[in-house]
Amino acid sequence: AEKLLEVRDLTTGFISEKGIVKATDRISITLNKGQTLCLVGESGSGKSVTSLAIMRLIDYAGGLLLEGNVNFKGEDLTKKSQEQMRSIRGNQIAMIFQDPMSALNPVFSVGEQIAESLRLHQNKSNEEAWNAAVELLRKVGIPAPEIRAKQYPHELSGGMCQRVVIAIALACNPELLIADEPTTALDVTVQAQILDLLRELQEDIGMSILLITHDMGVAAEMADRVAVMYAGAIVEEGTVEEIFANPSHPYTVGLLQSIPGFEGSRGEELYTIKGSIPGLGQLPGGCRFNPRCPHAMDICRQQEPPNFSVGSDHHAVCWLHEKNIREAHTGENGVK
Ligand code: SF4
Ligand code: MG
Repeated sequence: AEKLLEVRDLTTGFISEKGIVKATDRISITLNKGQTLCLVGESGSGKSVTSLAIMRLIDYAGGLLLEGNVNFKGEDLTKKSQEQMRSIRGNQIAMIFQDPMSALNPVFSVGEQIAESLRLHQNKSNEEAWNAAVELLRKVGIPAPEIRAKQYPHELSGGMCQRVVIAIALACNPELLIADEPTTALDVTVQAQILDLLRELQEDIGMSILLITHDMGVAAEMADRVAVMYAGAIVEEGTVEEIFANPSHPYTVGLLQSIPGFEGSRGEELYTIKGSIPGLGQLPGGCRFNPRCPHAMDICRQQEPPNFSVGSDHHAVCWLHEKNIREAHTGENGVK
């Protein structure tokens, strides 16, 4: 498959009284054309910061891009000026967020907001833009789009508003859509409909999706590849099949056990990994997951584990994959 986005060693931080505190640490991910990569982890793991850094919006959020590269279609976005980035964000990369209401302007009809985007990116006249806006509303599954186009955001449900936001994103014909928890604020039925819509649109126009979610169930449905993030770092990465059939980091195992009804999940009771993500600048020594890990060994508190290859195109950052250490610990693969 052809690579669209290749992030290498992306390290970001924020300035605190104690100096620079890292928010993400050497993030590396690859997204192929027409595919979906899910970045999964609990809130506070650095998923959103990663996407803001890719889009170069982190500067506006008070953060710093400290190190690394973001190759998009062979060009390094970290070397672009903000003016060049504005054009890339408007024409090639679109972003949608959790709360559709905050992305929409309450004083303009939804049709006008889509039309405005079309005028900007596709040089259309007013009438052409309006007609295309109505077509986009139809495309994102809004019934009676001619009537809906004239309505204001507060007249539409949350799910309808997220469809409008997706329509605005499509107005720039993006090759890459970054979707940050796009269904988290919606009720379960509507969630499923929006995910279906994203999948259909992807097949239709061939865009790639970087989907950020805390929900392994969403990743199971949507992802070609999954990257699991914990406390600012990728701890496991692989194809969706590999991640679900052979989870190889104890954190991933914990996330899978928290899916209701998933094989290996602990009955009806929602299993949550005990403890919480350490705050920025409060990482433990050694493996960043060691205070919460049911398998933590001495070496885990002393030395950061390297990234082990654990299968075909599948990696995990965990000492249990060092053969000698694993055998001393359990005599077998102790991850499960
Ligand atoms: Fe757990 Fe050690 Fe693996 Fe970290 S390196 S996840 S503490 S077993
Ligand atoms: Mg977030």
